[in-house]
Amino acid sequence: MFSYRHAFHAGNHADVLKHTALLAVLRHMTQKDTALNVFDTHAGAGLYRLDGDYAQTSGEAADGYLKLLAAIAPPASIENKPVAPANQAQTAMDSAAAKTPAAAKGAKKPSPVAALAPALQDYLDMVASFNKAGSHKVYPGSPFIIHHLLQERDRDRLKLFEIHPTDAKTLAANIAQLNAGRSIAVLPEDGFEALKKFLPPPSRRALVLCDPSYEIKSDYPRVVEMMTDSVKRFPTGTYMVWYPIIPRPQAHDLPRKLKTLANREKLPWLNATLTVKSSKLGHDDAGEVVRPGLPASGVFVINPPHTLKAALTAALGQAAQFLAQGKHKAFEVESGG
Ligand code: SAM
Repeated sequence: MFSYRHAFHAGNHADVLKHTALLAVLRHMTQKDTALNVFDTHAGAGLYRLDGDYAQTSGEAADGYLKLLAAIAPPASIENKPVAPANQAQTAMDSAAAKTPAAAKGAKKPSPVAALAPALQDYLDMVASFNKAGSHKVYPGSPFIIHHLLQERDRDRLKLFEIHPTDAKTLAANIAQLNAGRSIAVLPEDGFEALKKFLPPPSRRALVLCDPSYEIKSDYPRVVEMMTDSVKRFPTGTYMVWYPIIPRPQAHDLPRKLKTLANREKLPWLNATLTVKSSKLGHDDAGEVVRPGLPASGVFVINPPHTLKAALTAALGQAAQFLAQGKHKAFEVESGG
């Protein structure tokens, strides 16, 4: 059984990168009225509490979304005291978040700083819309971010795959509160495999988000297999893969293999990375070796919107600045094809 639970990692720097990019891609794709199909192959639980035990134990949001917020908002507006036990945390939405459109109207925006990059501001506004004014307890996962953009569009369809039985159950319960009917399906299946059944989609417009936990080494080759199969079935789809940048050969090879695939199939691609700290082992005061945790991650997009490169270049430049732990901050947005 998988032990990875995204609740420990929700709102970390990797989520800042991934969710800013996801939002920017979908903003562009939803400009056209034609029906859109979105597939989230590794969906997670959907909603997370930043004040619950999982997030408080790992403290990862403190170095990600909350750090970003603190850098641009006055500290008095950031209230994040624990209020709910962990077992309630993942299913309980803020009453504001249960009704996303109403929540969006009521939510207080962080104080604007001069010239905050539009994609980063959009990301912060989107997370704020899931919370009551001035509160930052709820963090939306990819299913809710996608729904946030599709909710006014009746013809769009969202398919969410989640294999962990507990997270699949929590996700289904969270999605049920949206009363979205047939437009959203939660499928407790292997997302790598199940995607095949749905490509190409009838409307010939789709976004696939592939965001595995990479808990098992076979996730790396499975991403490449899934992408190779998918672009053959449906070459005009937009595909977004998140990957960790860690000192492991499979992780190093993954973006290289995706570039080779895109170039071979003559498809445009974009690779964006965000580094917030050094990958070197450190030592604590007692001389014990301290692992740095995740220092960096990337998103690889095939058939990216033409607006994505400029949007992410501006956003990630600022995100690297705000999220840096020491002098190892960096970002890169590379494209080809
Ligand atoms: N995409 C989510 C977000 O941005 O909010 C986070 C997803 S988390 C990184 C990865 C999830 O994939 C975990 O919840 C894990 O249980 C699930 N998972 C792992 N292997 C899977 C598979 N083969 N098919 C579907 N889900 C899988």
